Amino acid sequence: MSQDDCIFCKIVADEIPSRTVFEDDEVIAFLDANPLAEGHTLVIPKDHYETLDEVPEETAARVFGVLHKLNTVVQDAVDADGANVAFNDGEAAGQEVPHVHGHVIPRFDGDDGHPIHAVAGERPNLSDEELDKIAGAIHDNS
Ligand code: AMP
Ligand code: ZN
Repeated sequence: MSQDDCIFCKIVADEIPSRTVFEDDEVIAFLDANPLAEGHTLVIPKDHYETLDEVPEETAARVFGVLHKLNTVVQDAVDADGANVAFNDGEAAGQEVPHVHGHVIPRFDGDDGHPIHAVAGERPNLSDEELDKIAGAIHDNS
């Protein structure tokens, strides 16, 4: 399942080059072409899904399995001190390539980067009632 105009589908189909670091029947991982840090790696399902909610649970588990494995391998390869592992899910979250991909971004002591807490806008000031309502809505649909 691929989409003609998708750059990551073209990588899966070997129509454009990539520095592939892992591949199996369902998942492929390659170095980010414009890395935020040494070793910045992307992990994607081979099938085209735009956002995480479209990914079947089993495929999502496979993608996470590869992220989990590569997180350690990538950090070791570049002698990192940690990593941010994350998805930009949807345009509002900054997703630029509309084919689901998880980032492994190695981090180094004193690299002047930021934690994941820095990605959102201003923190909302929520009452206990509002927090209860949100928790309930999530709980009821989990
Ligand atoms: P996102 O904002 O989460 O959609 O991130 C897309 C990422 O894909 C960026 O970090 C880009 O540098 C990376 N990227 C775009 N085109 C390519 C490509 N052809 N090969 C590898 N990485 C790419
Ligand atoms: Zn695609």
